[in-house]
Amino acid sequence: MLKMLFGDFKKQPFNSAKVFPNKVYLRKILYEMKTNRTFTMIKPDAVENEYIGPIIEKITASGFKIVALKLKKLSIEDAQEFYSIHKGKPFFDELTAFMSSGPIVAAVLEKENAVEDFRALIGATNPENAAEGTIRKLYATSLSFNAVHGSDSNENAAIESAFHFTDKEYV
Ligand code: ATP
Ligand code: MG
Repeated sequence: MLKMLFGDFKKQPFNSAKVFPNKVYLRKILYEMKTNRTFTMIKPDAVENEYIGPIIEKITASGFKIVALKLKKLSIEDAQEFYSIHKGKPFFDELTAFMSSGPIVAAVLEKENAVEDFRALIGATNPENAAEGTIRKLYATSLSFNAVHGSDSNENAAIESAFHFTDKEYV
């Protein structure tokens, strides 16, 4: 049944901008994503400060399994598309300029209750309010340069993962 529904879509080359309006394809992504995966980026500030190693160590020590991983640089257009949910907000231009200012590490992580548990692990958006021991408390410098991104819902985890990774890039 699922093959009947989704078989044809699997053959399409992935392009999130084209695919996003396709509700059947989105359902396929959500079906595959379920509730045990989330998407993260180590942001340009943390890469620049040489925190890739410590942050990955913290993530894996907290029980998350890495199922996709890459170092890449976002163009300004990539950053604007990725953070399009914030378009029109006063910090949008600063955020997208920052996110395209240097390399990032993108990863898909697997764990029971991944989205919620990962948000707890990274801590509050503003590191000043982040709990002790969280990634943002340890490695972020400010609200704007806050070291890591974490998906805020299963749906966004699916969309954000598909933005950065093709099916073949998962182990
Ligand atoms: P992220 O989506 O990066 O994981 P978040 O979900 O904790 O962060 P969002 O509300 O989605 O927070 O905001 C996205 C990013 O925009 C934040 O991580 C932060 O760097 C930046 N940001 C949010 N609010 C502000 C603000 N008031 N001023 C400056 N930058 C902000
Ligand atoms: Mg967010």
